Amino acid sequence: MTDCLFCKIAQGEIPSRKAYEDDLVYAFHDIHPLRPTHILAIPKKHIASLAETTAADEPVLGRLLSVAWQLATENGSPDGFRAIINTGRIGGQEVPHLHLHIVGGETPVGPMLCKI
Ligand code: 5GP
Ligand code: ZN
Repeated sequence: MTDCLFCKIAQGEIPSRKAYEDDLVYAFHDIHPLRPTHILAIPKKHIASLAETTAADEPVLGRLLSVAWQLATENGSPDGFRAIINTGRIGGQEVPHLHLHIVGGETPVGPMLCKI
């Protein structure tokens, strides 16, 4: 997709602090980290959200999850982490290119959700 922020980051057109790359996935540090470890792992190909995926996307979806532990360990969160995929309006997704947040650090991330 030509006008997508995270496509441009994956293609190197917009700079990012790279954490990992393979044939399917690009990962980089979040520009506004919410925890000491805050990495975004994205499919290299444009997928707008988890709500746009099909069975054909299973290889990249699997890869996103299977590299998360390595990324957390290598980036300051060796004792666990939280993986989050915000999806659509209800999920609070701001950037319309599927991304896995990997958050952690040396202290617990905190409660899963705040009661509303
Ligand atoms: P969302 O709310 O869509 O799940 O998360 C989007 C995330 O992307 C946010 O945590 C935000 O800080 C991050 N982000 C937005 N723009 C940029 C950018 O240009 N570079 C980087 N590295 N992160 C970004
Ligand atoms: Zn994109």
